[in-house]
Amino acid sequence: MGVSFYKKRLNSAQYVSGILKGDRILLSKAITLVESKLPPDNVLAENVLEQLLPHTGNSLRIGVTGVPGVGKSSFIESFGKLLTSLGKKTAVLTIDPSSQRSKGSILGDKTRMEELANDPLAYIRPSAAGDMLGGVHSRTRETILLCEAAGFEVIIIETVGVGQSETTVKGMVDFFLLLMLSGAGDELQGIKKGIMEMADAIAITKADGDNVQKSELAKREYQNALHMFPPGENGWYPAVVTCSSLKKIGIQEIWDIIIRYETLMKSKGFFQSNRQQQNISWMRETISYYLQADFYNNTGIKKLLSLKMNQVENGTTPAITVAKEMLNLFYQKPEGSAEV
Ligand code: GDP
Repeated sequence: MGVSFYKKRLNSAQYVSGILKGDRILLSKAITLVESKLPPDNVLAENVLEQLLPHTGNSLRIGVTGVPGVGKSSFIESFGKLLTSLGKKTAVLTIDPSSQRSKGSILGDKTRMEELANDPLAYIRPSAAGDMLGGVHSRTRETILLCEAAGFEVIIIETVGVGQSETTVKGMVDFFLLLMLSGAGDELQGIKKGIMEMADAIAITKADGDNVQKSELAKREYQNALHMFPPGENGWYPAVVTCSSLKKIGIQEIWDIIIRYETLMKSKGFFQSNRQQQNISWMRETISYYLQADFYNNTGIKKLLSLKMNQVENGTTPAITVAKEMLNLFYQKPEGSAEV
């Protein structure tokens, strides 16, 4: 298709047929549409998503997290290359919580995953963290669906292991992989128990050269630490492995573990029930998001908010009293009427 086709504003049918054919330019444009804050774009995006829905859900969604420097992009590059060598169309979505605040980006430098970026079976899409109300990125779920409709079989969602983002990503993937560095001595220092509990597998990165022994030690320590947690209700015990993206060691093993997980979870019904739960959460989050947006965009609320915040800060009125007052105002209830 000519360049001018892509420059025009397209209708939903053009998006739908293009994405179903695997047209990457249209896929990228559709993701931009989904991420847009303009209401007409949102309407069009919803329309496109609705039509594509029957063609979604067929991928394996994998979350990869770990602190900056742990080796996420190196891992995804060699893991992604393994997948494309197996003929699997692989999409990588990176969520970068830093980019919004600083305008800079932890994940965004252009040298990341260069080889994979040039692979015809791979598609890499960085996206900035969404606005405050929408959490990490309220649109990543929609982006996953678009990629599935475009025929991607494995979708990797990468996030930096800081703050809220892991919980959000865990809520949109089938398998959650935590990358960890081996360090001298106190291996478990600084690792939040909650993040370890979320992991379906932990991979100790950079297990090569001088680091091999240290990595094996770290592996044993994590295995022992994980033994203290009961298995999840799906009966899965998180796997702990070492790997080297540089030497391509342990990468296949991680893929084998993921496949084993998928097979087991599908046979027990947990794969589907997890996705159903995730969809319900997604619906609830969307409702909360729009309710909050309506509340904070309300003219009356806007006028009063800073005054009321002062009162709470100064301790002149209890927070709960102010909250109820504001909610009553929002719902237009006269003072003294039924409690919110
Ligand atoms: P990210 O910030 O988590 O995405 O980490 P990167 O993938 O950018 O890697 C951080 C640094 O660790 C880079 O200098 C990489 O070359 C190095 N690194 C990544 N993987 C390996 C590995 O398997 N072995 C070794 N020795 N170094 C690695």
